Amino acid sequence: MTPSTAAWPAPDVAAFLDQWMQRLFPIARSITGRGNRETLRLLQQIAPLEIHEVPSGTTAYDWIVPDEWNIADAWIADRTGRRLIDFRQSNLHVVSYSDPVRGLIDWNTLKPHLHVHPELPDAIPYRTSYYRRTWGFCVTHAQYRALEADGGPFDVCIDATLTAGSMTYGEVLIPGMSREEILLSCYICHPSMANDSLSGVVLTAVLARDLMNRTDRYYSYRVVFVPETIGAIVYCAQHEAAMQRIDLGLVITTVGGPGEFEYKRSFDSDHPVNAAIEDTLRERGLPFRASPFDIHGSDERQYSSPGFRINVATLARDRYYRYPQYHTSHDDLAFVNGAQMAETLEVYRALIDRLDRRRIYRRVIPHGEPMLGRRGLYPETGGSQRPDDDGRSDLDLTLWIAFLSDGRAAIDDIARRLGVAVERLQPIADRLVERGVLALV
Ligand code: ZN
Repeated sequence: MTPSTAAWPAPDVAAFLDQWMQRLFPIARSITGRGNRETLRLLQQIAPLEIHEVPSGTTAYDWIVPDEWNIADAWIADRTGRRLIDFRQSNLHVVSYSDPVRGLIDWNTLKPHLHVHPELPDAIPYRTSYYRRTWGFCVTHAQYRALEADGGPFDVCIDATLTAGSMTYGEVLIPGMSREEILLSCYICHPSMANDSLSGVVLTAVLARDLMNRTDRYYSYRVVFVPETIGAIVYCAQHEAAMQRIDLGLVITTVGGPGEFEYKRSFDSDHPVNAAIEDTLRERGLPFRASPFDIHGSDERQYSSPGFRINVATLARDRYYRYPQYHTSHDDLAFVNGAQMAETLEVYRALIDRLDRRRIYRRVIPHGEPMLGRRGLYPETGGSQRPDDDGRSDLDLTLWIAFLSDGRAAIDDIARRLGVAVERLQPIADRLVERGVLALV
């Protein structure tokens, strides 16, 4: 399937995002199964994802791809056959990865298989049991009380299958001038919840399409759509060499709430990805909260693990864990909308612009100092030069750029170190390239 040829960017971004959220929200996703395939296939209309299947039983480092889980229907019905709990009303009613069940079950047997939210009585909580075989239903407090009052026995059915199949992920590789890659990752494993993480999935697809439409990309981009944890681990295992070369990335999730912007720093708080996020938010006058790296969170746990050490940050709006509706049926399309997502999208677009401007240079002759005079870059009369007071004359900056361009530091890292704007350094770097002192990495 090829992406739609309609105008890009969409003229009404908020409406476009709303339409995609409504389309994908009802699909029952998990870490494997048809819902993930369907989601990725639909996303191919936004950006040309390649879809890959990894068979159950495949090992990846310390993990094994589990059996594929698919669910058709589920209910708890009373003796008259009336559904008291109905999967068709919400796919959150069933614990994800539940074993299939069918039978007449009494209240005392059913009770330990029911989950309610401790704080939100009206919400259906989101629960999973990927690696321990069990089954369960998630219900509101009123539904729990109704079941208890009824007393059973109940007709309980989880019409699900857990069989050898595969785990599905999607990726788009977008080449730039440099072979150096930036990682954008989102997770596709959540059923009907909007902020965590469908908003991130839709936003990531839009960013992929944006990047494809740009002709001036400096970096290459690796955009991945994986089930959280197991998907990211498998992806790393299957792309180990490529992932080990990546320096920075973003995990994109919870980007559609009405609340505050928050970013979670990458594990090395001094890494430029963090400064780039802060600068982007400040430049736009947006208040934000900065949180330190934490071992809880999302797939940065895999990408930043000792074998990879990619500096992965997350820029969110109503970040996971923070909002009361998190992991419940109240994280819905009343909480998240296209207008809010469009605001976050603008910040991401500016952030990616900024990251993409991080040109990296290396000295053509790295040993010793370049002979600037021979290249018309040094005053002709010797002996009269002294460093000026602020050390930021064009000559000083020329010497600094030539000194710091070791093939690792990007131009904006150098700008930050020298306390000058990138806009001031870039023309000097361009001249050094033109005169054969530097080469773009
Ligand atoms: Zn989650």
